[in-house]
Amino acid sequence: MEASDLVSIGMDIYQREQHMVPAAAKAWRLMVESAAGDQVVLQAVSAFRSLDYQAGIIRRKLESGQDIREILRVSAAPGYSEHHTGRAIDVTTPGSAVLEEAFEQSDAFAWLSENASRFGFSLSFPRENPYGVIYEPWHWAWRDPGKST
Ligand SMILES: [Zn+2]
Repeated sequence: MEASDLVSIGMDIYQREQHMVPAAAKAWRLMVESAAGDQVVLQAVSAFRSLDYQAGIIRRKLESGQDIREILRVSAAPGYSEHHTGRAIDVTTPGSAVLEEAFEQSDAFAWLSENASRFGFSLSFPRENPYGVIYEPWHWAWRDPGKST
């Protein structure tokens, strides 16, 4: 399901404008401010992604010769990415490799682990997750506290 009601959360680290659904965007802004108050910098890498955009990612990886099974361990198939919902965001911080497991050693990850739940964000793909997805310490999603899932 692709989100349609989206608002800007500003620029990502590549100077591309990023979007989330309004409630998630508001929670993200509050969380970034709160982290800044603790001298922790949270930066967006990627938030909402359309089905077309996701299809492009897969297509480029196939064209570069990667195996489809290997690709799908790392990138969700179009239609299955949590980024389509407008509630997920990939996060980085200055000095950390982007979208690398090493992010878990950053102050930002430690801060998120301790504080993100207060803003409704949680890690979607922890180590040994049941979804067959690689561990993604950078991928956080906002979950509507009014809903059970
Ligand atoms: Zn992600």
